Amino acid sequence: MKVLVPVKRVVDYNVKVRVKSDGSGVDTANVKMSMNPFDEIALEEAVRLKEAGEVTEVVAVSVGSAQCQETLRTGMAIGADRGILVETSVETEPLAVAKIMKALADKEQPHLIILGKQAIDDDANQTGQMLAALLGWPQATFASKVVLEEGKVTVTREVDGGLETVSLTLPAIVTTDLRLNEPRYVTLPNIMKAKKKPLATVKPEDLGVDVSPRLKTLKVVEPAKRSAGVKVPDVATLVQKLRFEAKVI
Ligand code: AMP
Repeated sequence: MKVLVPVKRVVDYNVKVRVKSDGSGVDTANVKMSMNPFDEIALEEAVRLKEAGEVTEVVAVSVGSAQCQETLRTGMAIGADRGILVETSVETEPLAVAKIMKALADKEQPHLIILGKQAIDDDANQTGQMLAALLGWPQATFASKVVLEEGKVTVTREVDGGLETVSLTLPAIVTTDLRLNEPRYVTLPNIMKAKKKPLATVKPEDLGVDVSPRLKTLKVVEPAKRSAGVKVPDVATLVQKLRFEAKVI
């Protein structure tokens, strides 16, 4: 049983992002980049399924620049058996990534594709759903528990006010929520071992996918700065300020 895990290289979640001065996007020059946290969870889950003897191969795939090799090596240090880099200098949109994953799924024939629920840079939350539609496979999004059984996967999903459990026939798409698992730390011996694992590079054209953007970013702006708070001496002043300055009562 084979599992495919798409992993995206994004600005590290600890970095305070800066908007480019021309408002065309976010500055990524000299910024720490890491694997999208939800993809780390997806990979951890696939590796745990392998360690439990239910999966035989875990393949990590990344779409982006040559630097994504680093992300794939981290993925292999977590436990992926091999990596595929789909190299492009275009900033890919979810539909393009979904088309690439569809082409790779046709080639690799995985039984399960586990994606992050969203990439923390574009916050699109679209790729998994689009991929399910393109493949015509069932999907379970926002998984907080994944159980593999004979020809099926049972997924518990966090929904408003509770948990929903769905059963899907394989092959299927699962997207991960934050509480699915806690990814392991990569150890030095595993980083060394990962260097020897196979990493293939292909281009979107080799897969017959056109990645040209379909969306135009009009502008990106920083969130408005919050003004400093003030201390009031008593309730009367507070009421006065709320009524006449903030005009909320
Ligand atoms: P998004 O729809 O952009 O929020 O991304 C959802 C998920 O799709 C991510 O968590 C990844 O698993 C996958 N994904 C999106 N973009 C890429 C990419 N460039 N390379 C690999 N996987 C990606």
